[in-house]
Order: sequence, then C-alpha cells, then structure tokens
Amino acid sequence: MRLKSIKELNIEKKKVFIRCDFNVPLDDFGNITDDRRIRSAINTIRYCIDRDCKIILASHLGRPKGEINAKYSLAPVAKRLHSILKQEVLLAKDCIGDDAKAKAAALSEGEILLLENLRFEAGETKNDASMAEALASMAEVYINDAFGVSHRAHASVEGITHHFDSESKAGGFLLQKEIEFFYQLLKKPVRPFAAIVGGSKVSGKLQALTNLLPKVDKLLIGGGMAFTFLKALGEDVGASLVEDELIEDAKNIMDEAKRLGVKFYLPVDVVAAEKFSEDSVIKFVTAKEIPQNWMGLDIGPATVKLFTESLNDAQTVLWNGPMGVYEMDKFSKGSHKLSHVVAQAHATTVVGGGDTADLVQRTGDDEEMTFISTGGGASLELLEGKELPGVINLMVKDEI
Ligand code: AMP
Repeated sequence: MRLKSIKELNIEKKKVFIRCDFNVPLDDFGNITDDRRIRSAINTIRYCIDRDCKIILASHLGRPKGEINAKYSLAPVAKRLHSILKQEVLLAKDCIGDDAKAKAAALSEGEILLLENLRFEAGETKNDASMAEALASMAEVYINDAFGVSHRAHASVEGITHHFDSESKAGGFLLQKEIEFFYQLLKKPVRPFAAIVGGSKVSGKLQALTNLLPKVDKLLIGGGMAFTFLKALGEDVGASLVEDELIEDAKNIMDEAKRLGVKFYLPVDVVAAEKFSEDSVIKFVTAKEIPQNWMGLDIGPATVKLFTESLNDAQTVLWNGPMGVYEMDKFSKGSHKLSHVVAQAHATTVVGGGDTADLVQRTGDDEEMTFISTGGGASLELLEGKELPGVINLMVKDEI
C-alpha cells in the first residue's frame, strides 16, 4: 500500500478542497510569528493554480472549542497567503455556513477561497458526519496536505474522505513527503540505524520505543525518561523524574534490546539541579552519583561524547525528544550539542516531534538535517506503528 499522490489525479479545472495545516503561532497582536506551516503548503496550492483549479483551502487554528472566536480567525493566514502567492485569497465568514457555500459555488478557475476556522464548528473534532458531508459537497476533489492533524479522526481529515472515490482523493506534496520519509525510515533504513529518543516521560513514548526496537541497530535514551531506565538498573536517581509504574516496562525494553542485539545507551552523566529552576545551583555528576533530592535535568558532557561516538558510523539517525529541559538555558547544552552532532553526521537525519523540530531551529541546525517532520503527534503515531486516520483512506494498492 502507498499514499496516492495528487499527481495521479486529473484535477484540471476542477474544484479542489485542500485540507491544510495553517495552525500557526500568533503573538498578542494577532501577528504570525512563524509561517513555516503556510509556506510548506504552497507547493500543493501552486500545483492546483497551474491546473486552473477552483481552490478551497481549509484549516483549524488554535482551540476555539466549537465556538466562533475572533482571536482564532484565519484572517491573518489569508493575508499571508496573499503576500506569498501574490494573488487574491478570499476568506469565507464560516466554514460550512451560507457564506462558505456561496463563495465556494461562485469560484472561478484559478481563484482561491480560504474557509474560516474549521474548529469554530463543534462537529469538526467530533468527526460529525453531516459536517464532513457539508465540506465534501463544496468540491469535486479532496486533497489532504495537513500531516500535523492526520492522526486525528476529524470531519475535514477522516469523515470527508468517505465522500470521494479513489480517483478524486489523494495526499498533497507535504503529506506525501512526510509519509514517504517515515515509510523509508521504518521499512528500509540504511544501516546502521540509530534512534535517539528523549523527552519527559517513558509513558509518552513507550509504544514508539517498543515498535522501534526491532527496527533499529542502536537506541540512545536521554531526557527525563532516562531516569526510569536508570532506576530499573538499580541506580539511585535522587529526585529526578521517574515513573515507578513503568520500571518493569523499562526492564523489558532493555532485556529485549539485549535479545535483539540492539546497542542500548543511557546517559552516563547528568546536569543535576537542586530545584526545577533556571536559577538553581547545578552540578555535573555521573549517573551513579546524583545527590539525594537533586534532579537530573540534562545529559552531561560525557554522555554527549558517548552518544557522539555511538553515532559515528550511523547511516540513518532518527531523533525524537530533547535530552533535557531545553527550554531553560542552563539545561539546554546537552540537547544543543547533540543537535550539532546529528547535523554533522554523514547520515540521513530525520527529526520528529514538535519540541525537537523547535530545538534544531533554535540551534540553527535545521538546514543541515535531511528531514524535519512538521507534525509532532502524527510523527509519533507513525513511530508507534499506527495507521493515521487521515491517511488510511487515501492509500492505494501498488499495481504489480
Ligand atoms: P515530550 O513532550 O515527552 O517529548 O517531552 C518534552 C519535554 O521534556 C520538554 O518540555 C523538556 O523540558 C522535558 N524534559 C526533558 N528532559 C527532562 C528532564 N530530565 N526532566 C524533566 N523534564 C524533562
């Protein structure tokens, strides 16, 4: 099975509904502070413009929870699209109301209509059948280019796909790139394949770790989750973040790694702090000597060296989750240094997860990575081996 591409459809002059992810960050004045998500949708939109399509764009923004809220209007997105595309972008007052329907019906070839925030309607996140039908009724072709919400069974993502046959629905270029990268990574990685997994808790990544284990050659664990593994090995980790109820799972993962011959790495030293605060006193200590009541909030320099060496021969590197509390300068060094190491690796480097994508942008290493996934939740579900509701109905069998 593979994702059907927009390129395989005959969309010439047709009315095309594109589900985009325009969920961009805004400042207090409603200005877009990072328009990456808008820019990454442009390829698909331009492709449709070049084929004289009548284009309907739809997205959510923030969490208006089913109510109209001017703060979450897509008006700033319409403006930014206009300045990037250099053509008029109409904005509907609603997404399935009279205004949206009238404007969609009146579209001419090459014109673009942006529907108002999908989540102003409660039916969107409930995958309401009538909402899906109302959205679908506006167009002849459905394109999903919103990887970031493809793990959600929402009306514009999942419900809507049931109203189009396989000749009139597909993935856009952004979705295709994301899915192909993860497919390649998980099915046919160039070896050695190393996965670096960090972040706060084991519980959030347990399924991803279990799914990755048989596929990787090396597994490097950092961040808060490392302490549950260290405790499972009998170390005293002081007041570091530990999920006691997952110690057995942590032991099982380490046993399974041994059985499969996967090289399993944990931090050998940490930056320990007296309190969870930027102004805390800190110490560099080995993972065996974390003082009572102190907590490990970053990996230490010896761990950076260890991880660097273990990544030396890797041909594929997947990184999901920071190595420490990177939001605080004091505990960001380990993640920053590892970011540079991954960026310099002679390997295919894939960065997944919102925090890690944010991190490599902060360090300026984003250009050096082979691929940065735009969707945190969706990429984690792919790593967990799950099918995405917004993708499954756009898959086709390969003809042999
Ligand atoms: P996740 O959402 O699970 O990927 O976790 C990301 C969060 O993990 C970030 O906000 C980090 O601040 C946090 N984090 C990383 N390392 C630690 C640590 N050693 N202790 C507590 N939180 C951590």
